[in-house]
Amino acid sequence: MARETDSALNFDTDSALNFVKRNYPPRVFGMALAFPAAAVVLYQQQAPWPFWVLAVFNGFLWAHLAYFLAAHGSHPTRAEYRNLMTDSVFAGLWVPVLSFNLLVSLVLLSMVSLDNMVVGGWRLFLKGLLVSVVSVLLGWMWVTAIWPGYAIQIEPTILTLIAVAPLMVVFPLSVGVINFGLSRRLATQHVELEEVSRTDGLSKLNNREFWEASVYTEYERHRRSGSPMSLIMIDIDHFKEVNDKYGHVAGDQVIRDLSELLSESVREADVVGRYGGEEFGLLLPDTDIKGAMQLAERLRISVQTLMVKPYEIRCTISLGVAEADTEVKKYRQLIERADKALYLAKRNGRNISMSYGDD
Ligand code: GH3
Ligand code: MG
Ligand code: MG
Repeated sequence: MARETDSALNFDTDSALNFVKRNYPPRVFGMALAFPAAAVVLYQQQAPWPFWVLAVFNGFLWAHLAYFLAAHGSHPTRAEYRNLMTDSVFAGLWVPVLSFNLLVSLVLLSMVSLDNMVVGGWRLFLKGLLVSVVSVLLGWMWVTAIWPGYAIQIEPTILTLIAVAPLMVVFPLSVGVINFGLSRRLATQHVELEEVSRTDGLSKLNNREFWEASVYTEYERHRRSGSPMSLIMIDIDHFKEVNDKYGHVAGDQVIRDLSELLSESVREADVVGRYGGEEFGLLLPDTDIKGAMQLAERLRISVQTLMVKPYEIRCTISLGVAEADTEVKKYRQLIERADKALYLAKRNGRNISMSYGDD
């Protein structure tokens, strides 16, 4: 269902509707649970019938009407904010109608204040409070006008106490449950976002920024502990020809399949990244040049036998290997060395592994 964007409040329609839907059940249950407390006081104070009508409307109908108004209007978010202010009007009105019963008044006012605070922070909380105060005054005028024998009765009876107990338990709990769900969703989204921001879209490998950051971290560890570390830089041979012959879509599939092969061929601690277009970097912690060269050869041979489906493309890679030693003063220098070795491999005919210092 395409609908106009709730632009004034910067909500798209989906999240606006979710906001409205989220408020619906707590309002239904909150209002219904408030009814017995109000009814006990109305009964004890022998309230005239218009106040009973108000109690039934507020307790059992208002929440549904509020939902209808917000969900079917053109600006759900704005309508829901209006609903919250209407809640504050009702809460204020009940204070004089319930003879200023301290317990019930406080519970109702804190219930709507909690809602306002959760949704709109201090601003909405204070606005709601102001609305309630005005509403108390209007309600006061109303009761004195139509209620003969009206009397203030601040002290709650034991029956009122019992009637208000379910509301006092259930309402804060439901607010807690809803907000716990929200914060958990937010935490999951945070993790997902973090993963997206460090992943390369095409290859699903780590992107260059994350890979280089890992190299930096590992290099610092190597400097402190003296543990060996090596890098392998990989570049697909004659990749331009693959693109020219089979097209870019096929070329992308080659990159995907190769990336998968690389990820599956290394150890858990190794970090694979897409360094550039068809260039990849492997960070190998606790690995010396000998181990790194062995891995490089293993990878080179695996790629030779890789068949990219459904295009039936075969390709080869060239690899440059370098180990961090005392001459390497910066992590970037190590990357440069592996790059130089890769260049050497290209110059020596491609489809080979070379290490820095080889000639
Ligand atoms: P060499 O053996 O010297 O590496 O030859 P090459 O053809 O691979 O040369 P070069 O590295 O200069 O060219 C890389 C090509 O890879 C150029 C570019 O069009 C292509 N390429 C880079 N990124 C992508 C990509 O994401 N998808 C596809 N399909 N092609 C890409
Ligand atoms: Mg290339
Ligand atoms: Mg290249």
